Amino acid sequence: MVQGTLQQHGNHAVVIGGSMAGMLAARVLAEHFAHVTIVDRDHWPAEPEFRAGVPQGRHVHIFLARGQQVLEQIFPGIGAKVIAAGAVPIDILNDLQYYSGTGAAPRFPSALRLYLSSRPLLETLVQQELARQPAITFRPGVEAVALVTDDAGRVAGVELRPRTGTVAAPTETLAADFVVDASGRDSRAPQWLTALGYDSPTQTTVDSHLGYASRIYRRPADAGQDWQALLIPEQAPAILRGGVIWPVEDDQWIVTLAGSGGDYPPTDDAGFLDYTRGMVHQALYTAIKDAEPLSPIYGYRRTANQLRHYERLKRLPANFIVVGDAVCAFNPVYGQGMTAAVLGAVVLQGCWQRYGRDRAALPLQFQRALARSNTTPWLLATGSDFRVPGVEGALPPRSARLTHRYLDGVLELITRDREIYTTFIQVAHLLKPPTALFRPTIAAKVGWHLLRQRGKAARADENPPATKQHEAHDQ
Ligand SMILES: Cc1cc2nc3c(=O)[nH]c(=O)nc-3n(C[C@H](O)[C@H](O)[C@H](O)COP(=O)(O)OP(=O)(O)OC[C@H]3O[C@@H](n4cnc5c(N)ncnc54)[C@H](O)[C@@H]3O)c2cc1C
Repeated sequence: MVQGTLQQHGNHAVVIGGSMAGMLAARVLAEHFAHVTIVDRDHWPAEPEFRAGVPQGRHVHIFLARGQQVLEQIFPGIGAKVIAAGAVPIDILNDLQYYSGTGAAPRFPSALRLYLSSRPLLETLVQQELARQPAITFRPGVEAVALVTDDAGRVAGVELRPRTGTVAAPTETLAADFVVDASGRDSRAPQWLTALGYDSPTQTTVDSHLGYASRIYRRPADAGQDWQALLIPEQAPAILRGGVIWPVEDDQWIVTLAGSGGDYPPTDDAGFLDYTRGMVHQALYTAIKDAEPLSPIYGYRRTANQLRHYERLKRLPANFIVVGDAVCAFNPVYGQGMTAAVLGAVVLQGCWQRYGRDRAALPLQFQRALARSNTTPWLLATGSDFRVPGVEGALPPRSARLTHRYLDGVLELITRDREIYTTFIQVAHLLKPPTALFRPTIAAKVGWHLLRQRGKAARADENPPATKQHEAHDQ
């Protein structure tokens, strides 16, 4: 996708933040600039291991099928390399045991493939791909603290401070013809823009108060299960606890527990296990109760959906864009962030082809196109989160309630209908648009199911069970 002839539109681009979104943006820019420097306050580890700048790296990272497919177009052969490095390849419908509130989804062979790895492994392999690009240089241990502009007000560089731990360290200016901010959820770009006399973007936040707790286990040689991975999602408003067992490299399981509405999973040994007993299905508890833990338990609670509306700004300085979590950070439970970053790189490539020569127009055009690309994952994430009791943030439209009832019907049926389950997984993995769940064959089954449910509920109201009458009488 990003291969092609080098069309240089400047000499030097700088990317702030060398995580997934920043590295992917750098790969696109390497097609258009002689030099691309990725700056990060961290040092990239030579081997796949945790680093402080990506604290989420200790938790399960589900890389959606759509993201894997598009990453393969950007770095041909990367999937095979991730698998050769130990990632576990699975057939999603056959090897992943998915539970909805009503029970276990069916498992059957399919063409839907996925590789499962830790976040550090994936990031390291992407970094190795970039290290082979002669145009790209990594500059670790420096923090971007401000944008620098030229006399015409165009962004012309970044002010960097060595990451020594003291604010008094002298800064240096790294000149650039183009700057990308990919510094994640805590991006300071809004403040940098304000300092230059621009408006800062408005922000939409939807917070379902979800917390994670994760631990690595040795994958049991004989787990006694016929699945490779296990996913028990929350299903608000009724089910607020979920969890996942994700097989990764080195014969390990990453086990992540997730609780919404403030029902945070504990980070002590006994509490962690006990929490799994309180899940609607016992499969996760059964699988880990005798498994050998290999790590402490790590918690994480900064999970609100956070959307900065750069696309609504009237103006942005030339030569500057914002990507990745710095624009749109999702509740991680839907596993969308890295895929959104991959799709954002495709958006950047498209915008560059159209507007690369007009660096005054490009920033706003890019932010608008990126906002369109983020729309579906944002609606999927917030659409579910709105159902969590105590959720904070902008209210959904009234029509959402009807959609919720319909989707409840879908979730009730995935345990017994292969067509519905397959489509549900394709939508969750961003392979199909959500409208696929409304196509006539599925709508007919869901509609019929909901009608029957309503009929049953009405009959139950007319003929309440005798025990209930007793209870009422006894009170
Ligand atoms: C708990 C948790 C679980 C997640 N699970 C999943 C999942 O299952 N699937 C999925 O697809 N996504 C998941 N995500 C989201 C995913 O981690 C991100 O969407 C993805 O990493 C892309 O983010 P990013 O590159 O924009 O920013 P980040 O990954 O946050 O990286 C930002 C980078 O910028 C650097 N940086 C920050 N400020 C500066 C500065 N001023 N100067 C220099 N460098 C700076 C940091 O060191 C870091 O390297 C999860 C997130 C969390 C919090």
